[in-house]
Amino acid sequence: MNKNYDQNNIFAKILNSEISCTKIDENDNAFAFLDINPQSHIHILIIPKKPYINIYDFNKNASAKEILDFWKLVNNLIEKQNITEKGFRIITNSGKDGNQDVMHFHIHLLGGKNLGRMITLNS
Ligand code: AMP
Repeated sequence: MNKNYDQNNIFAKILNSEISCTKIDENDNAFAFLDINPQSHIHILIIPKKPYINIYDFNKNASAKEILDFWKLVNNLIEKQNITEKGFRIITNSGKDGNQDVMHFHIHLLGGKNLGRMITLNS
């Protein structure tokens, strides 16, 4: 485990059932649940079951099977949410400049409406 991983983060507590969530799906290595503060009609969080801080940590240190299972779950959700054709957005925040709030790697799967332009340069 990365020495900087905080084992008391909210998503670690969701994974060990200390905190409840609305589960959507899971497989051996990944877990999906609803974001508590949805930013779109569809707003699902997908996380690895093992402790990784962010996408860099995950890509660098997870096994090939963990990475495969993670993205398989993402594609299963895209199909089940029926957004393959309509489209969607995937976001992952990392660190201070990325404004990451929960220090367990997660991606946001957003969809169900037109999400507008990706980002604005406001400073
Ligand atoms: P980020 O800024 O990428 O770290 O996003 C963290 C996300 O986790 C936010 O969209 C929050 O709404 C969401 N979140 C925080 N606590 C919970 C929780 N207990 N259950 C579900 N989603 C949560």
